[in-house]
Amino acid sequence: MRFADIPGHETVKAHLRDLVDRRHMPHALLLEGTEGIAKFALLRATAQYIHCQNRTPDGDSCGRCPSCLQHEHFNHIDTFFSFPLLKKKSKPTISDDYAAEFADFCRRDPFMDFGAWLAEMGNDNGQPAIFVEEAAHLLERLNLKARQAEFKIVLMWRPDRLRAEAANKLLKLIEEPHADTIFLLSSDNPRSILPTIYSRTQRINVQPYTEAEISAMLQRNLAADPAAATTAAALADGSYVRAVRLLSVDGERRQFMALFISLMRLAWQRKVRDLKDWAAELAKLGREPLMRFYAYCARMTRENYIRNIGDDRLLSMAPDERAFSDRFAPFINERNVEDIAAILDKAAADTALNGNTRIIAFDLAVKMILLIKR
Ligand SMILES: [Zn+2]
Repeated sequence: MRFADIPGHETVKAHLRDLVDRRHMPHALLLEGTEGIAKFALLRATAQYIHCQNRTPDGDSCGRCPSCLQHEHFNHIDTFFSFPLLKKKSKPTISDDYAAEFADFCRRDPFMDFGAWLAEMGNDNGQPAIFVEEAAHLLERLNLKARQAEFKIVLMWRPDRLRAEAANKLLKLIEEPHADTIFLLSSDNPRSILPTIYSRTQRINVQPYTEAEISAMLQRNLAADPAAATTAAALADGSYVRAVRLLSVDGERRQFMALFISLMRLAWQRKVRDLKDWAAELAKLGREPLMRFYAYCARMTRENYIRNIGDDRLLSMAPDERAFSDRFAPFINERNVEDIAAILDKAAADTALNGNTRIIAFDLAVKMILLIKR
């Protein structure tokens, strides 16, 4: 990871570079700031810059020397990664045992979505931590003399997840560091770091991204359409990770809206054969998304009914939904609203009970032909 690989944060990069160039790097440096702004990537770039044997004139690592290549491959001999894990009963829980998974995760998502890391470990509800055996293992490795570089570097992701015993074990080293050891830490939640550790770090506050930066990244990295990128960026509070989450939610909503519109149009036109294709297409979504789709249809039905009876204030429609509703709302009325809601509920319930999703969808579509004309 080079500084140039990370979007934005020019002030922080200049600061980090300056600490290295003037040999003022503290023994424990903490980057703090909101989630999803590439703090850990900045630390990886700093470590690579420290170890680089051929720094560039514009203040970056070269990306080509043996040290840089080892950093790029996550196997630099004097660089240690430490990060939260789920407790394993059978054996000590240490980061080294998950080095390959963590390297993959960093490569795939340099913005480090903590929820994605949990999912990677196979438990969305787990409480990952940095355990005492990890601290002991780190101390052991750091006590060996540096084998290659001038500095040994510990890159620790989320020290706010250090268990108290683990923090206490590391404390002495952070208080009276070896001259050749640097701790680089990044945290989304610095208030949860043990005060004894926190107070011994030098800290840099990393600012959130601007909306323009996030929107540009979404369009570049994910080929998001400009309007959707702008909306997600405006709601993300400067976090790229949050913006990506918002974008994927919005992507699903639009897909659902398109399917809902087809259902209603085809039902109105009594196109049974096309509705059969529609049901086959819908069933490809899979069971969980299907249940969200039926809930979405129920919401659209309710909102259009409210609009039809004239109370615009209660609506929470997106602009594109409202535009469709301009013409569609009159079709949802007191003669069909309850029955439409009921068949949508039944479709969701049958889907949850492992029914055949294509048949459930087609059954719903056929009933809609009658209901939409009422
Ligand atoms: Zn290099």
